[in-house]
Amino acid sequence: MRRKLAAGNWKMNGTSADLAQIEALAQAHSSALSEILIAPPTPLLHRASQVAKSKAITIGAQDCHKRERGAHTGDVSAEMLLDAGASYVILGHSERRADHDEHDEDVRAKARAALAAGLRVIICLGEELEEREADNTLDIIGGQLAGSIPDDISSDSLVVAYEPIWAIGTGKVPSIAQIGEVHDFIRARLEKRFGHATAKAIRLLYGGSVKPANAAEIFAVENVDGALVGGASLKAEDFSPIIAALDES
Ligand code: PEP
Repeated sequence: MRRKLAAGNWKMNGTSADLAQIEALAQAHSSALSEILIAPPTPLLHRASQVAKSKAITIGAQDCHKRERGAHTGDVSAEMLLDAGASYVILGHSERRADHDEHDEDVRAKARAALAAGLRVIICLGEELEEREADNTLDIIGGQLAGSIPDDISSDSLVVAYEPIWAIGTGKVPSIAQIGEVHDFIRARLEKRFGHATAKAIRLLYGGSVKPANAAEIFAVENVDGALVGGASLKAEDFSPIIAALDES
């Protein structure tokens, strides 16, 4: 049985005043069936993990460096994130790939560092609109999966997020059939690479303009085990109904 996961990516949003959102979520979902994860910006990690402590919320980071330590001004290692209270790290988000020129091999190296430090990784894969229109979606996703996911994963340490780039923050969402096709494809590729038992236990998230209004129909898709949510995770009042829809799916 895969435990459902509702993951909120706050991106570069939030200061200490927003920790109240985590508190509100923890109170509203103290007996949630789904796992609830918030990935706040790095300066909030420690305080967020204090707020979430012994509550129904886990805390994640949004990136890490591929090296353990050293002369990398401004960067943060996986061990530091763990020490600050994170138990997950999101890697290969399309905004990191675009803004920081991160390629599959960078994502893979970061994932290896994160796993070695004891973090779980959420690895993001997704196609551009032109790639979808050219009918190249599955080739792109297959290539990213092969390149970004390291060999030494376990079903517990890896979560894969399918995030079509054209759906992130745009209000556009693929059709239910399109989401289902990509999630089935990812599951099949994982099975080929890691074997049936491991692949069956890896959680696959959909991300891209998930809102309270569309969450239930997305969560009804086979092989969708939860969501990676940006904008709608910033306020407890928006994220809460998404978590509730996941619990009910
Ligand atoms: C994201 O950034 O991972 C994301 C899915 O954003 P949004 O929900 O705002 O589209």
